[in-house]
Amino acid sequence: MTAAGTGTIPIMRPWLGREEAEAAAEAVASGWVAQGPRVAELERAVAARVGAADGVAVSSCTTALHLALVVLGVGPGDEVVVPSLSFVATANVVRYVGATPVFADVEPATGNLAPGTIEPVLSPRTRAVILVHQGGVPADVDAVRGLCAPRGVEIVEDAACAIGAELYGRPVGAHSDLVAFSFHPRKVITTGEGGMVMTRRPEHAARLRRLREHGMSVSAADRHARREVVLEEYLEVGFNYRMTDIQAAVGLVQLERLDAIVERRRSLATRYRDRLAGLPGLRLVDDPPHGRSNFQSMWALLPDDFPVSRDDLLQLLLDRGISARRGIMASHLEPAYAATPHVPLPVTERLTSGSLILPLFHEMTEADQNRVVEGLYSAAGTRER
Ligand SMILES: *Cc1c(COP(=O)(O)O)cnc(C)c1O
Repeated sequence: MTAAGTGTIPIMRPWLGREEAEAAAEAVASGWVAQGPRVAELERAVAARVGAADGVAVSSCTTALHLALVVLGVGPGDEVVVPSLSFVATANVVRYVGATPVFADVEPATGNLAPGTIEPVLSPRTRAVILVHQGGVPADVDAVRGLCAPRGVEIVEDAACAIGAELYGRPVGAHSDLVAFSFHPRKVITTGEGGMVMTRRPEHAARLRRLREHGMSVSAADRHARREVVLEEYLEVGFNYRMTDIQAAVGLVQLERLDAIVERRRSLATRYRDRLAGLPGLRLVDDPPHGRSNFQSMWALLPDDFPVSRDDLLQLLLDRGISARRGIMASHLEPAYAATPHVPLPVTERLTSGSLILPLFHEMTEADQNRVVEGLYSAAGTRER
């Protein structure tokens, strides 16, 4: 527990209760633990919550993004524009289908791609853009579509962090043909591991359901429910990217908590902003003009003249029992992408090296948050007024 002054304050802790444990136990007791009725129920519930026509549950957001590219027919010889400033999975999925990731820079205010950063890297081989809602800050999907649609470039939204965020007054999840959510515990709601592709195209939904289950013509759950013998066919080379019913049972409870989680995160974010206003030059991530963040990642960009380096600051905070994190990673700086050519990415490099992510979680107390605030003022060598 993190009573004030004791214990380590984590960067994130999922809000899980007895209800999730009971739901998982019921799934086990039912005898059907693989993908089945609870997965179907979670798909309907998430689609209803975000206003999407359909949702296809999978094992992670990484596998969701992989299948999205397969469905679009992206493959060798194709280029896919991605932000370098993202979790590495965003770039990796492009490699999974044999295509080439092309890194674009991001906007300083949001950490997201925008038409002005995408346009310089478009080529005749560009097939798609993976548009990330980084840290839960919604990207301006319509503006990017305005650039991409006339050129026949598809958009896949990487909404790993963004369930519960809003874009143009509506939930993220229904603005494109393919939108991928994550239910990893570092995100806003969790199933342990898990993801979902939201789609408004019935042919995409059918193909995604087939691809996640070995390319089978009929799902195992459907076959089980039939009274007559059904011999399945394997229509194409698929994958085993299924979510289990145990995970979906947990997800159904988590989904009921989503509104409360987003409300709490937004109120703690506001409190961080108020309390840290006395640190000159420190910039905290905020809502963009076109939407509302869920503050999945509360990042702060240090001013150039901050008295300690970002890495020293992380250590100073850890010495006080505060587990902050470096800012969002930049894939082009990792060994896995050292050989990938790219345009200059100055904003990405500034954000990844100069920012840190502050602890923020549903059950964080104001006393916890005060300790983080005090740690930052102390490192800056000033006091909160
Ligand atoms: C976490 C994350 C992913 C991967 O999600 P998993 O569910 O862990 O596979 C992909 N993209 C972004 C932007 C992420 O933050």
